[in-house]
Amino acid sequence: MVYILEDETSIRNLVVYTLNQSGMEAEGFDNSQKFWMAMERRRPQLVLLDIMLPGDDGLSILRQLRSSPDTARLPVMMLTAKGTEYDKVQGLDAGADDYLPKPFGMMELVARVRSLLRRTEPSPQTGEFRLGSLFVSIPRYLVTFDGTPLTLTPKEFDVLVFFLRHPRMVLTRDQIMSGVWGQDFDGESRTVDVHIRSLRSKLGTFGQYIETVRGVGYRLGDIHET
Ligand code: CA
Repeated sequence: MVYILEDETSIRNLVVYTLNQSGMEAEGFDNSQKFWMAMERRRPQLVLLDIMLPGDDGLSILRQLRSSPDTARLPVMMLTAKGTEYDKVQGLDAGADDYLPKPFGMMELVARVRSLLRRTEPSPQTGEFRLGSLFVSIPRYLVTFDGTPLTLTPKEFDVLVFFLRHPRMVLTRDQIMSGVWGQDFDGESRTVDVHIRSLRSKLGTFGQYIETVRGVGYRLGDIHET
């Protein structure tokens, strides 16, 4: 889900339409109150933020997003008609991830949105991972899918984190077992299968990315979701 906060109706509608056509969910807002209300309901994967807005402008909204731990790392792309270096510097200083000056072509918008979504790769340093609609915070012991918290058992959580730390690598049951349960655990490799089965079902559509590699083990595949 992409949120766009833009007071110009024609641009807002065109952006929402274009993102929808490109297979992304998008919702537009013409003022900050509606935007904040939507943020309470559902957390997007990316925000497109116009700078010149009635009421709170885009830069002050960006600062508010960055000041809250929940949204500090939410990808934000600034849109502005002004296109001056000054705005760009201010936006990037305030923590914007990218910057798109108006007028922009719809193809460029889609390419930049996709690229920003790809850049939000797992970040083992912070202990927080964002992959498509899935967000995992190790320090906060939190997993959300599309903004909705999921209830995982401690071992399901550990298995998921183990995959996130080894993206695209084929992991054998033994590797998963010793990585999650420890070297000394004398369990059966079936334990791994059981946990992965329950993890997949709890992850909903994201579960498909935990692929079975026949005869070997499992792998967290490429995330195609945008
Ligand atoms: Ca505007």
